[in-house]
Amino acid sequence: MSFDSIISRRLGDSPACDKDAKALQFIEELTQNADGVQQNVLAEILSRNAQTEYLKRFNLDGITDRETFKSVIPMITYEDLQPLIQRIANGDRSPILSAHPISEFLTSSGTSAGERKLMPTIKEEWDRRQLLYSLLMPVMNLYVKGLDKGKGLYFLFVKTETKTPGGLLARPVLTSYYKSDHFKTRPYDPYNVYTSPNEAILCADSFQSMYTQMLCGLYEREEVLRVGAVFASGLLRAIRFLQLNWSQLTHDIRTGSLNPKVIDLSIQECMTRVLRPDPELADFVAKECVKENWEGIITRIWPNTKYLDVIVTGAMAQYIPTLDYYSGGLPLACTMYASSECYFGLNLKPMSKPSQVSYTIMPNMAYFEFLPHDPNSSGHAQDSPPKLVDLVDVEIDKEYELVITTYAGLYRYRVGDILRVTGFHNSAPQFHFVRRKNVLLSIDSDKTDEAELQKGVENAIQLLHEFNTSVVEYTSYADTNTIPGHYVIYWELLVKDPTNSPSEKVLNHCCLAMEESLNSVYRQCRVADNSIGPLEIRVVKSGTFEELMDYAISRGASINQYKVPRCVSFTPIMELLDSRVVSVHFSPSLPRWTPEPRR
Ligand code: AMP
Repeated sequence: MSFDSIISRRLGDSPACDKDAKALQFIEELTQNADGVQQNVLAEILSRNAQTEYLKRFNLDGITDRETFKSVIPMITYEDLQPLIQRIANGDRSPILSAHPISEFLTSSGTSAGERKLMPTIKEEWDRRQLLYSLLMPVMNLYVKGLDKGKGLYFLFVKTETKTPGGLLARPVLTSYYKSDHFKTRPYDPYNVYTSPNEAILCADSFQSMYTQMLCGLYEREEVLRVGAVFASGLLRAIRFLQLNWSQLTHDIRTGSLNPKVIDLSIQECMTRVLRPDPELADFVAKECVKENWEGIITRIWPNTKYLDVIVTGAMAQYIPTLDYYSGGLPLACTMYASSECYFGLNLKPMSKPSQVSYTIMPNMAYFEFLPHDPNSSGHAQDSPPKLVDLVDVEIDKEYELVITTYAGLYRYRVGDILRVTGFHNSAPQFHFVRRKNVLLSIDSDKTDEAELQKGVENAIQLLHEFNTSVVEYTSYADTNTIPGHYVIYWELLVKDPTNSPSEKVLNHCCLAMEESLNSVYRQCRVADNSIGPLEIRVVKSGTFEELMDYAISRGASINQYKVPRCVSFTPIMELLDSRVVSVHFSPSLPRWTPEPRR
């Protein structure tokens, strides 16, 4: 379906402005000629990088056609590339992956050996990503009118950056973006004005940054038309922040002064232009916040909010009920699908229900291939070698793993995301984000897999040896009823000598021992971002896991194939486990985390 028909069907009028019309036209052109664009992208990537060490290995000899590419270049994972990435990180400036110099590393929330993956990027990549950003509002303006009449309250943050031994910056992709001129000196666009000043977004101290952004959002409460954060967890953290800090915030509004804890000089300077004594506003905010019931707090404080702009697809879907509660059911807009490796595409119907969100991959961003994903396949070597499918050849309702070839030098790289095709916009397919492979637990940007959880349990069990106690079985649960959410691990213990059972203190320390061995993204969320709460161990009565098995079998599981699920979320199972809890324990302190990798 073309935009023209969407427009006439939904709104009965035209794009909001000339700029929007051009952007929508651009989307039309790209998606009408998706295969041609893909072919050109591949040819461009292969020809400009023909002399790189990586491509020379495969003797492409400057050939840029698809068939040759597919027959000689292998599909790879991060681990395959790691030795090359390490050389770049150590300062080797020769063209290893990309003919264009690697300008920095973007640190993914996906980890390898417990540390963030380092994704090479090149300067021009920001032009491509900026282009994708520039398409978001023109699409949104088709569905929501009048966004030029107010502002967006977006909670945006930078995180710590480090340098590799060779001197390249390593930082999360959004930190890189917010610090770039593309963001800092963006031209004024009436459809895209934020209440948060750049100075607040760019302050690395998360308290000062959040405090200032919230204060500005409160001052401009009547102008706010949309409220957002990147992920749902981030927006809920902002609500929690308001719960904890409204008293000081309203004091500042009442007096026109700034909380002395905000010591960042550039924030102090810019806030002189915002702060003014406004006792009436302070009374209003305090009156709303002091209430026990925070249902609909977002629309009570920001009454003109038309939608929440947060990603609630994938792991973030767990936050939808809480967001609905705080917003009184405002529409949730998921606008784009992106990663450190590459920005993929956007949602052409951003006001659709979260369960119906599909992202249209933009064929100019990279060369995209799709590995058919069969949830029942063993993945063993004897299975016939997988054949990758091109962007325009994917089939509706089938699931695929995304494989990308980027300008920055990833060739046939497995991203690890599983997508299901829901339809096409012109010739470009649209995908439902199904899940990321191998993620068991996730609260914020953390992703913990089964092996990491197992390692955590093993680490904690060490503390039980001297008490002659072992963990018979365990499972886990991402508890998002608390803000921030936290990991819950259910343990069934075998205490061989009841006269010498592990004390409360030892079990608390088991929580910490688990956290210490979880990956660095988890520990950063705990320590620096405060976006995950202390890990909890719930010790359950002996025999509980047998009951769990009985329950699964009663529901049709095969007794021979039954395995304890390492993560649970099904309510009856949770209820069973919780009804058998004999003691609960929390991590007594923060795990260790430094911005530098451990190795
Ligand atoms: P990172 O490399 O840390 O930026 O994380 C990128 C990953 O976040 C992607 O590969 C997805 O697994 C996930 N992600 C990004 N955008 C979305 C989205 N719109 N919906 C669901 N998951 C997403």
